[in-house]
Amino acid sequence: MEKIKAVYIHIPFCNSICSYCDFCKVVYNHDWIEPYLKRLEEEIDNSYMGEEIETLYIGGGTPSCLSIDELKKLFQIFDKFKKAGNIEFTFECNLNDIEEEKFKFLYSKGVNRLSIGIESFDEEKLEFMKRKSSFKDAKKKMSLLRNIGFKNMNVDLMYAIPRETNKVLKKDLKKMLKLKPEHISTYSLIIEKNTLVGLNKIKPIEEERDFKLYETICKKLKKKGYIHYEVSNFAKKGFESKHNLTYWNNEEYYGFGVGASGFVGSIRYENTKSLTEYLKGNFVSSKSLMSKVDNMENELI
Ligand code: SF4
Repeated sequence: MEKIKAVYIHIPFCNSICSYCDFCKVVYNHDWIEPYLKRLEEEIDNSYMGEEIETLYIGGGTPSCLSIDELKKLFQIFDKFKKAGNIEFTFECNLNDIEEEKFKFLYSKGVNRLSIGIESFDEEKLEFMKRKSSFKDAKKKMSLLRNIGFKNMNVDLMYAIPRETNKVLKKDLKKMLKLKPEHISTYSLIIEKNTLVGLNKIKPIEEERDFKLYETICKKLKKKGYIHYEVSNFAKKGFESKHNLTYWNNEEYYGFGVGASGFVGSIRYENTKSLTEYLKGNFVSSKSLMSKVDNMENELI
């Protein structure tokens, strides 16, 4: 069994639900946080074998929607992990949750990489996604984060929203670049059945147009000095996400939390996507043993 170096933790709570979102998430409810954290701790205790962890990724959902007291409880659980000196410790957040006290706390606990769900600054795109963000606010928040000490930040950008033109995308890119993030993750809209846009039978844009938008992103970011190190991820030199590369290199990792998946001891497992089941302590919903051939195929992919 190879040594596990990566951990993913899923925090499924969000302040509001975006129209396209197919992730495992629920609207934040204070009453669920404590029971959730108890189960999360139990799941970690059951599986984690004390390996030294080189990448720890707290995703969701929106982990930043937790209150500072709830975050303190969450981070007590992370004290269980033996962390490498040069650990990449990522925390996902939404622009609206960024405030000084919370993020000073995260910084003091060793978080050294933030992934910020901005997605767009275009009114029409935001309305479609049922999200809010403003460039003015983003600039203010990014400078607050830099002042706290964060030196490695990712911003997410969504594209291929119906009616999105190259001009709209270029404007979004220009504003994102003004924020000077070290890393940019781009996501082409996928319309999934069980989302608001899926239920409203919204049609995806044509493949050819999607590809043209993708080309615009690749050209622009390359010109601005970003390395295109994965299909949809771009980074300044030395800021490629080590955690992303764990998946990309088909290495084993722990996944904890509702809806998380992991790869441990040649077994790929998926946790339940039902919060009710998770809170009952029924964590894993499926497991499959990977043969050498499966592993070789995955590595090739
Ligand atoms: S896209 Fe992010 S913020 Fe929006 S509902 Fe999904 S997990 Fe929550």
